[in-house]
Amino acid sequence: MKFATKAIHAGQHADPTTGAVMTPIYQTSTYRQSSPGEHKGYEYSRGTNPTRKALEDCLAALENGKFGLAFSSGMAATDTVLRLLQPGDEVITGDDLYGGSYRIFTKVYEQYGIKFVFIDTSDLKALEDAVTDKTKLIWVETPTNPTLKLADIEAIGKIAKKYDILYVVDNTFASPYLQNPLDLGADIVMHSATKYLNGHSDVVMGALVLNDEALYKQLWFFYNAVGGTPGPQDAFLALRGLKTLHVRMKAHCENAARIAEFLKTHPKIEKIYWPGFTDHPGHDVAEKQMRDFGGMISVVLSDADLQETFRIASRFKVFTLAESLGGVESLINHPATMTHGSIPKEARERVGVVDNLLRISVGIEDVDDLIADLKQVLGD
Ligand SMILES: *Cc1c(COP(=O)(O)O)cnc(C)c1O
Repeated sequence: MKFATKAIHAGQHADPTTGAVMTPIYQTSTYRQSSPGEHKGYEYSRGTNPTRKALEDCLAALENGKFGLAFSSGMAATDTVLRLLQPGDEVITGDDLYGGSYRIFTKVYEQYGIKFVFIDTSDLKALEDAVTDKTKLIWVETPTNPTLKLADIEAIGKIAKKYDILYVVDNTFASPYLQNPLDLGADIVMHSATKYLNGHSDVVMGALVLNDEALYKQLWFFYNAVGGTPGPQDAFLALRGLKTLHVRMKAHCENAARIAEFLKTHPKIEKIYWPGFTDHPGHDVAEKQMRDFGGMISVVLSDADLQETFRIASRFKVFTLAESLGGVESLINHPATMTHGSIPKEARERVGVVDNLLRISVGIEDVDDLIADLKQVLGD
């Protein structure tokens, strides 16, 4: 089946008792057993719930994977992967990660004796040089947040295989519509389903998708033992969101391309990050592994200190100043104080998260209105 058909149908069947076409919200914590241990595959909703199962199967299909796991947040999904590690293990990861990933790595897992090595994942040599006999996990985000650096998923997969290291790709920014890391050698795809997958900014949820059954069983153990699993109402909403993923992503990409072109030559813009530009350092990798360039753009404002940046960020009428991304509505974010506030100033400035950087999540409103709003704030 092709992507659009899977987005609408995968994992879903008309309800056997009523014929309901939409997967019901199975708002139940427990399931009747006809005698002890005899049940229909569902015992207790921390571990299994039919609405969540439909979502997990749909997510797995969209990422070309065999197994899906849904979590109550992207961070809960990340936490579940990190539980596979032991004290003394090392993790190689990117130097401009999502702030919450940086925080769980350094503030939660370092205290249990796990070491995180931060490198530029667009630099394959730096990555291979960082491998030691203790390296157990490579964690890659691509495109990165917020400077949209590209990591070559397939090339990193070869390094991971060579040294027998578990390889995870955070695919939140691209979504499965634009790239499928499992096809390129990743062992696990991680998502903040809060973003493009759900797409309507009304649910916080995470996901993992993978092919290996033994690894799935290990992850399922922590998923159930720790319990960061979402309720059926949120699973229903995310499942509904997925039905339009392909339509939304196409519109996000088209609008972002128009806006990137508008901003590129604008006098108030000192620098723009968007992988669709041929002079973007990761453009060739993006062309190779992505089907389009996504809905995220970051800009550095010219001659703007923190105060001026705040003033500009607060004046939009159609764009909303808010954290998060990937919803139908356009958002502006100030990474240095919002999404990346938990990263020390020196560490974030080293990777370009300066005080006058703004990140734009381009929504699917009429692009003329979005450009008019940018003009209203920045001038023509
Ligand atoms: C938002 C985000 C996360 C964390 O997900 P939550 O759903 O907010 O817990 C992880 N990675 C990336 C790239 C994100 O944008």
